[in-house]
Amino acid sequence: MRKYVIMGVQGSGKGTQAAIMAADLDLVHIAVGDIFRWNVQHHTKLGAQVRRTMAAGLLVGDDLVEGVVRDRLGQHDWNYGFIIDGFPRNERQAEFFLESYDIDGVIHLDLPDGEVRRRVLARRLCSGCGMDYNLIASSPREPGRCDACGAVLVAREDDTEEALAVRLREYHEKTNPVLSIFRRKEYVVTVDATPSPPEVQRQIRKRLGLPSAGEQPRGHHPDETGKI
Ligand SMILES: [Zn+2]
Repeated sequence: MRKYVIMGVQGSGKGTQAAIMAADLDLVHIAVGDIFRWNVQHHTKLGAQVRRTMAAGLLVGDDLVEGVVRDRLGQHDWNYGFIIDGFPRNERQAEFFLESYDIDGVIHLDLPDGEVRRRVLARRLCSGCGMDYNLIASSPREPGRCDACGAVLVAREDDTEEALAVRLREYHEKTNPVLSIFRRKEYVVTVDATPSPPEVQRQIRKRLGLPSAGEQPRGHHPDETGKI
């Protein structure tokens, strides 16, 4: 059983890295943002609460986040472990988490603010179908047009220099105390998130003493042996 927390600023590739690890190590990927999005899309009670909060221009409260994580982990479907992304968000939640689960490591993806700016400000969104683009990593075939539906690509409203500066400040203010708590327990491995995703993954594996991607023994999954 492996239990990890992954932390990193937006644009650090946190979701990508967590997804690779989850698929390869049979971990359940618990992405708090995705759980909220799912609930909004499926018009659940929780989704309505999230929608109201966001419509008021507020961030989803820590209590709501905590409840969602507790419910999700309470499903106990993570036989081989989990990797959680988007939690804990503050010192209290970090303490709660440490008391409740003995985690194996905290992966901290480190990306200089300048690189965050470069990556985030290159993000585009299709005004037609909502598909995501990134002018650095995934440019459309025809500049400024969606590959899927041909509509115009636009920047997200909150992806401006000013808004990003505020988000970065908030991120560091909130994250640093959480990292300090985990560092006290010597759980944190800080990995430079600047290189390509496969290289970042290699570093994570190395630092956590995990087998390389695709080398995980599959003996416990008779139906999947021979897949690799
Ligand atoms: Zn489109």
